[in-house]
Amino acid sequence: MKAIAVYPRQKNSVHLEDVPKPSVTDIPDGMGVLVKVLKVGVDATDREINDALYGNAPPGFNYLVLGHESFGVVEAVGPNVRGIKVGDYVTATVRRPGGSIYDVIGTYDMTSEETYYERGINLRHGYLTEYFVDHPEYIVKVPPGLKHLHVLMEPMSCAAKAVYQAFEVQRRMRVWRPQKAFVLGAGQIGLLASLVLKLKGLEVYTLARSLPGTLSSEIVAGMDCNYISTTQETMADLVKRVGKPDIIFDATGNSQIAVDSMSLLGHNGVLVWTSITGGVRETTIPSDKINIEWVLGNKLLLGSVNANREHFEAGIRDFAMAEVMYPGVMQRILTNPVEGLDNYKEMMRLLVEEKSALKVYVNVQGE
Ligand code: BGC
Ligand code: ZN
Repeated sequence: MKAIAVYPRQKNSVHLEDVPKPSVTDIPDGMGVLVKVLKVGVDATDREINDALYGNAPPGFNYLVLGHESFGVVEAVGPNVRGIKVGDYVTATVRRPGGSIYDVIGTYDMTSEETYYERGINLRHGYLTEYFVDHPEYIVKVPPGLKHLHVLMEPMSCAAKAVYQAFEVQRRMRVWRPQKAFVLGAGQIGLLASLVLKLKGLEVYTLARSLPGTLSSEIVAGMDCNYISTTQETMADLVKRVGKPDIIFDATGNSQIAVDSMSLLGHNGVLVWTSITGGVRETTIPSDKINIEWVLGNKLLLGSVNANREHFEAGIRDFAMAEVMYPGVMQRILTNPVEGLDNYKEMMRLLVEEKSALKVYVNVQGE
């Protein structure tokens, strides 16, 4: 069968690879779930892998099948699989466990080992192909009523995890009633994080460079959040107008902005960093100023990556709520479909060149 793959660490190597079709018996103990891939989303991580900045092939392979944002339909299940049946719509988690205690208890997104295994990213093949097989532990059901949001389940899981972690760490406060969140960046993660924070009852300000009028700004408004163009009002000016936020959620992909935002967080607040910046940018910081402010304000910096099935399930519940509160808004993120695996060049071109694309995804095949 066909797959879109790269030769990791070799720039611009995206190509079509011929790979063997998996079988439900590839997973031991009758626990295989064979998924027919319908759609796969791509993001900046795929772009960085094709740029040779990131990613590794599985042991024994010179290529890595791309794609970590999956959506498909179950084609077959092993005799011992419970709770998942042929015809179910599903997505799949990305990371696979290593050996740490966190991996063993199903929280592989929190592995304490340096090496991590991620389908389509690091040391494991991805989903940009016609079929994949996996253990039910990693397969998450998507309600048919949300199938129009298909490839957003994985990015949503990462946004949901990051917000969930922020609330977890803030239990240090005994009482924490956050009122205001600044979300930096209005790409897919910024938009999804804005939604999750809004559904938690916060007043959300989503900041991006573009002037109002873009699709992102409309989506932000559509979920009752406040779109701020930093071309018109800087983050510092916004603080002067509305006060310092309790949460800053960075999803800009720009480490300079992530660092600069440290000086604008409120007392007892939490700054969440989610960008994967594969580059080599360096920046200087007013370290005395930040140091004293962070100490005197009991502030916290939190990095968050990946997600486990709990976060996928939480994200799916938030999507269901979003469809009730802001019907039709989330699907507007799905901007740029590409027809078929054969069009891998167009997929990569859109990822690199189409700055207005919120989500590039491949329609792999019909049901
Ligand atoms: C993926 C995550 C992954 C991270 C780091 C992101 O693009 O969505 O699942 O953990 O990259 O590799
Ligand atoms: Zn991703």
